[in-house]
Amino acid sequence: MLTNDQLGQWDRENFFHPSTHLAQHARGDTPTRVITSGEGVHITDRDGRKMLDAFAGLYCVNVGYGRTEIAEAISKQAHELAYYHSYVGHGTEASITLAKMILDRAPDNMSKVYFGQSGSDANETNIKLVWYFNNILGRPEKKKIISRWRGYHGSGLMTGSLTGLELFHNKFDLPLSQVIHTEAPYYLRGATAGMSEEEFAADCAAKLEEMILAEGPDTIAAFIGEPVLGTGGIVPPPTGYWPAIQAVLKKYDILLIADEVVTGFGRLGSMFGSEHYGIEADIITIAKGLTSAYAPLSGSIVSDKMWKVLEQGTDENGAIGHGWTYSAHPIGAAAGVANLDLIDKMGLVENSGTTGSYMLNKLTEAFADHPNVAQVRGEGLMCAVEFAEAKSPLNLYDPSRKIGPAISAAMAENNVIARAMPQGDIIGFAPPLCIAPDEVDQVVSVAKDAVTKVLG
Ligand code: PMP
Repeated sequence: MLTNDQLGQWDRENFFHPSTHLAQHARGDTPTRVITSGEGVHITDRDGRKMLDAFAGLYCVNVGYGRTEIAEAISKQAHELAYYHSYVGHGTEASITLAKMILDRAPDNMSKVYFGQSGSDANETNIKLVWYFNNILGRPEKKKIISRWRGYHGSGLMTGSLTGLELFHNKFDLPLSQVIHTEAPYYLRGATAGMSEEEFAADCAAKLEEMILAEGPDTIAAFIGEPVLGTGGIVPPPTGYWPAIQAVLKKYDILLIADEVVTGFGRLGSMFGSEHYGIEADIITIAKGLTSAYAPLSGSIVSDKMWKVLEQGTDENGAIGHGWTYSAHPIGAAAGVANLDLIDKMGLVENSGTTGSYMLNKLTEAFADHPNVAQVRGEGLMCAVEFAEAKSPLNLYDPSRKIGPAISAAMAENNVIARAMPQGDIIGFAPPLCIAPDEVDQVVSVAKDAVTKVLG
């Protein structure tokens, strides 16, 4: 068996890690962490250290680790047929069944699922479908996409542009010119003193309308947003936000893409975030929770309204010119079918709602009165604690102090993983949806000790 030192050396010499400080890691300043197994909400590394993963990988292992039902479905599919493509009407029992299962769970106005591999490629597909739609309708000028600051939609050229975090733009020559960003629905930071949540939501909608009018409504094709901002800080929307935004979009005939890569399949305590907030999307992006990350698979669920137009796009030259080799990959599809079955059997959508409320209460009890906690917030099993030098949200810590990463590292020393979100001193909690109340107690208690250690 390879030693840890040997693996570490091979890692540093050969492996180009995503979202990692390249030079530091290559030098060996940051350790190689080799994870070997998982069970329920826990993962174990090569040294036998067991940790409670309160971020479900990258908020994706929704059913928890080690589910044999999914492993067996994958194995069976791999033995019978590891791969066949889904071009020109081909499919497998798994992919066709999964498409039906998704539509059975999706809002009523949804019509078809286009399968991809990752959240990023699904959002790339979405923008291409929006452009295709407007070209078929004879509106070639209606192409710009509005996204929000702090939104996260992926790391591709278009999706990195949609993402409203500068880290994903800087030095990559992004955003592309077709993408513009509007105000984040971030009440804590965005609202002026004395503004209610409803007033702030109306303000966000007014700013959106101003942007649309300034650009010209005939040039704006779509708006994309996550029901709850995720990577940008885990920020549930202020009361009244989605109805106010939707009214503006409808007024100017702008499509709405709900990016439910994180919120789809139960994380907020509803099957979809769209259902949770009454969002009527034209496209819903799904990924992570679709297979609980047992295999890579994503999807774009398109509405009846869009499908009726897209259908007219196939001309005498043939098929729609958009496809991935791995669209509807049979192994991903088999994992998806087993995963959605398991979510139902384990009652995970419901658990996310009840245990999510429990977690938010416990975090509030532990942190709301702390002098350096600006806000405790959450919806379902998606919660965050935001830190500031003094209670005022504008009084941020100097980023070079890396308060968020220090708290997350102190938690890891006590075997609980929570994520220091990439912008601001925010600790995110998004555990597998099967987490139990006593496990939440452990997470909160470890978080409390870590905050005491770092901030006193
Ligand atoms: N959309 C959202 C809302 C996400 O959170 C993510 C990933 N964190 C993506 C898209 C991109 O997904 P992927 O990393 O699978 O490309």
